[in-house]
Formats: sequence, C-alpha cells, structure tokens
Amino acid sequence: MASPLDPTWYSDVQAPIEVADNDSVQWDEEVDVAVVGFGGAGACAALEASDNGARVMAIDRFRGGGSTTLSGGVNYTGGGSKQQKQAGVEDTPEEMFKYLTQEAKGVVEDSTLKKFCDESVKNLEWLESKNVIFSGNLCPHKTSYPISKYRLYYSGNESVAEYSQHAKPAPRGHIAKEKAGGFALPGGFPGGAFYRPLKETSIKTVNPLSSPKISNRTGWFKTISLTTALKNTLRLMSITALFYPPT
Ligand SMILES: Cc1cc2nc3c(=O)[nH]c(=O)nc-3n(C[C@H](O)[C@H](O)[C@H](O)COP(=O)(O)OP(=O)(O)OC[C@H]3O[C@@H](n4cnc5c(N)ncnc54)[C@H](O)[C@@H]3O)c2cc1C
Repeated sequence: MASPLDPTWYSDVQAPIEVADNDSVQWDEEVDVAVVGFGGAGACAALEASDNGARVMAIDRFRGGGSTTLSGGVNYTGGGSKQQKQAGVEDTPEEMFKYLTQEAKGVVEDSTLKKFCDESVKNLEWLESKNVIFSGNLCPHKTSYPISKYRLYYSGNESVAEYSQHAKPAPRGHIAKEKAGGFALPGGFPGGAFYRPLKETSIKTVNPLSSPKISNRTGWFKTISLTTALKNTLRLMSITALFYPPT
C-alpha cells in the first residue's frame, strides 16, 4: 500500500511526526480518545466513548457534519422498531437479514450483517437517546424519497417480487425528523435533522463546560470532554500532524 513516505505520494496528507520522547514535547491537548472527523460516525464514536468514561476530543477539518448533513437522513432500521409497530408493520431481524443478504450478495460477511440486523432496533433507540427524532408516519406508496410528512418508507427493493419472494417485505427507511419548532432551511437537507442532535448532544455531554471552539488553526472544530481523569493518554500532536502538518 502507498505511504506518505513513498516518492510517488502526491497527497497533501503527510507522514506522522514521530517523537523519541513524549515528555520533550509541549502538547496542545491530552485525551483518552481522539475522534478525527466529526460527521455522523465521529459524533456517535465520541458519544459512545464519552458514555464509557473516556475523555474525548472530536476534531474536524471543516465545521463537522460532512456528508451526513447533506444526506437524506434515512436510517435503515428493521426487526420491529417502535416506529414500525406504530405503523402496524410486522418485521423481524431474520426477515431483514434475508432481504439484506440479497442486496449485499456476500460483500458484507453474514456474521456482520446478522449483527447489524439483530442490533438494528437497539441502535435506533440509541440514536433516540441522543435526541434524534424518528416517527412511524408510513408512506403508503413506493417512492425513492417521500414528501416530508412521511418518515417511514420502503427505501429499498423490499416489496419488489424478486426480493419479496425470499423475505417478507417491510418498510425500514426511518427518516430523521426536525424537533418541533426546530431549525430547517427551506429545501434543506434532512441529514441535518439527523446530525444536529448528535452534535448538540456531543457538545452538552462530551464537553459540558464549554461550547465548541474553533482552534487556532482555521476551520478546526473541537470539543473536549472534562468528564474523567486522564488515563491511557493519547498524545494528539502526532495525529494532528498526520492530517494537517503545520503550514
Ligand atoms: C447526497 C447523499 C445522500 C445520502 N443519503 C443517505 C441516507 O439517506 N441514508 C444513509 O444511510 N446514507 C446516506 N448517504 C451516505 C451517508 O451520508 C454517509 O455514508 C455517511 O454520512 C458517512 O458518515 P461519516 O461520519 O463516515 O462521514 P461524514 O459525515 O462525511 O463525516 C466525515 C467528516 O470527516 C471530516 N474529515 C475528512 N477528512 C478529515 C481529516 N483528514 N481530518 C479531519 N477531519 C476530516 C469531514 O470534514 C467530515 O465532517 C448519502 C450520501 C450522499 C452524498
């Protein structure tokens, strides 16, 4: 695999700076867990690490949100979510697995896919516990993306005969919803309704004492947890240097 040390490496990403003695360096921050990239995955990782007692910093090259904010905000969940039940939909992790194996065609290992299906409802509930809102307003017809009053729909091919003969179809596309009175730009991306609560919850719980800061390097967003004592200290400078060498 190509590395930043190869002469033919043309990326701006540079090799990490390695130091012989940690104590000889003036570090900017010390944390247990550094999350690099504060989109949907990063926000979830930061929250989970913080919930498990780690002192966390999340860093983003820009303002955070990434493609998550620009997405349709559709969370593919099945196996009997609260929202599916509200809509009168019957579903099980087994039927979800049978459908997804047809879509994944072996690209995802069965054991991974099965875990995804088995933990699907639990994962949606985790998102709800972080203030992401979903609802059981079921779209009655098949569409690539429903109008905003519908928040549950067939986001895949579940009801297509080729698939439904092997797996009982169920709508599993759960679209994140703005909170009542919440901020939504006209024509804005529903992914914002998914990401914003995660970001806000991160700021409140990962870093309860300070609002998000832009660091002294333009465009850096960071949050810092003050929840636990330092342990397993992660020296951050090598990571930041890896992604953004000083200019
Ligand atoms: C138009 C569109 C619609 C979509 N709709 C859906 C949908 O409805 N449902 C669905 O499940 N998926 C959807 N997807 C896919 C989904 O958006 C992505 O899979 C998901 O958002 C990825 O999340 P992430 O946290 O990994 O990445 P991102 O949300 O992109 O976050 C990555 C973050 O890392 C930061 N970053 C990048 N490089 C660095 C670096 N070197 N150092 C520091 N920070 C860095 C970026 O600035 C960014 O904020 C859609 C994608 C697109 C483009």
